[in-house]
Amino acid sequence: MTDLQKEFLRRHLIEGELYQAIISKMGVTRQELSRWYEELKPERTVIAGIRMLWARKQREMTFPVFYDWYIAQKRSCGYCGITEAEIASLLAAGLLTTKRLATRGRRLELDRRRPDAAYDDLNNLTLACYWCNNAKTDTFTAEEFAEVGQVFAKIWQQRLAQLPLVAEGD
Ligand SMILES: [Zn+2]
Repeated sequence: MTDLQKEFLRRHLIEGELYQAIISKMGVTRQELSRWYEELKPERTVIAGIRMLWARKQREMTFPVFYDWYIAQKRSCGYCGITEAEIASLLAAGLLTTKRLATRGRRLELDRRRPDAAYDDLNNLTLACYWCNNAKTDTFTAEEFAEVGQVFAKIWQQRLAQLPLVAEGD
């Protein structure tokens, strides 16, 4: 992806600028934008996923603010530490199953560390795996749940240890 394409994605998909404004500010043609739009489908899909997470909860926060927070996060559960890549590996190996998989599980979710506080306070937000989020509910604070997260982490380590080793350079 070129710097110009990156700027286009930022302006159009994150800031919500219209093509007309982007064309005049960036000095590019509409044809170029249309071509980039097609080329950048994988990047658009990632941004759409982040936007869904943002849109699911009613928030005062604008999408650009949420997006910047999100991409700065470590991509692991704030309680047990599992990553989306590890979840994917466990699923692929049949070491992890849930009937909820059609809607939840694969992606890290958004959780409020203090459940009684708003989603608009970035300091109160963390990424959480489905399993931690589901157990923490809106009952426990992050401090209260920390020990439970450690227990989950131990179980994940045991399961991850069962993964078949992937050959180097695979
Ligand atoms: Zn977790």
